[in-house]
Amino acid sequence: MTTASAPVLEIRDLSVSFPTETGTVSAVDGVSLDLAAGEIVGMVGESGCGKSVTAMSLAGLLPGSARVTGSVRLDGTQLVGARESALRRVRGREIAYIFQEPMTSLNPVLTVGRQIGEVLQVHERMSRRAARARAMELLTLVGIPSAAQRVDNYPHQLSGGMRQRVMIAMAVACGPKVLVADEPTTALDVTVQAGILQVLRDLRDRLGTSVLIITHDLSAVEYLADDIAVMYLGQLVETGSRERIFARPAHPYTQALLSAAPVADPVRQRHRQPVLLGDDLPSALDPPSGCRFRTRCPLAFDRCATEVPAQTAIGDGMAACHLVRPDGTGPDVRTADPSEVLS
Ligand code: SF4
Repeated sequence: MTTASAPVLEIRDLSVSFPTETGTVSAVDGVSLDLAAGEIVGMVGESGCGKSVTAMSLAGLLPGSARVTGSVRLDGTQLVGARESALRRVRGREIAYIFQEPMTSLNPVLTVGRQIGEVLQVHERMSRRAARARAMELLTLVGIPSAAQRVDNYPHQLSGGMRQRVMIAMAVACGPKVLVADEPTTALDVTVQAGILQVLRDLRDRLGTSVLIITHDLSAVEYLADDIAVMYLGQLVETGSRERIFARPAHPYTQALLSAAPVADPVRQRHRQPVLLGDDLPSALDPPSGCRFRTRCPLAFDRCATEVPAQTAIGDGMAACHLVRPDGTGPDVRTADPSEVLS
């Protein structure tokens, strides 16, 4: 989001809906986002807000019933509406994915070296011998010690953290331009989560891979991301640099998210005022009119029900709220009285 050069991945007005017996579910609505070469963007929001559907739609991984509109360009090549054969060539080589639970993605009856090697034999036409040697290099790259021995291990012989490292090794085997990491640390013990995030950052630094990390873990994006995109009920409500969003979040939902995240400093934690939103994320089958956040927003007022808020530019990002001022400052959701903000 922060580069003047052409982005590697350019998403414009991306929408995804699913027809169901009870109506059409609008899972993603009008998402626009850029990912520059070597940039890490963190997409955050609650479960069910459309983050994963957005990620899966990029390389055509959604079921056939999904209706996808808008534009996704990878180095200028349009992926929305591309033929399945073209998308198959893109997957792995150009855009690679890692998911939450590596055990469901790894084949339990093949050694990890064989599984990484197969990717290289199929996509890079390497010999079995060369692929095995490269698999060992990749295991070392993702921080697995004693790669010469580990390459002959089966997935069940590895810890959860090591299995996720193997998945990352497979994902980057063909040198993709973009790595999409969908909740890559959620299923792991806290003690190994930091190691996986470090691997992702190292890959960006060493290989220049662009990373889109999808997570509800704000500490992960604070550690890793250059830019942040905040999603609510299928729409982006705020984007911007990590520094700006953590220091001066403009949108009431972003402020609520950040207020609920624990901080390491006990003094800061004691003085925090969490903003309570209630548990009910409205249904994407029948989203609220106007601002989709209005049913949970402590600052909602009449206009929020009738008018979709425009995106106010803030630096390289934006916030979509009627109360964000032209100078990019927003109301403080913990203290503001909407009538005063409006006056
Ligand atoms: Fe809240 Fe209204 Fe702003 Fe939406 S537009 S975030 S409901 S104040």
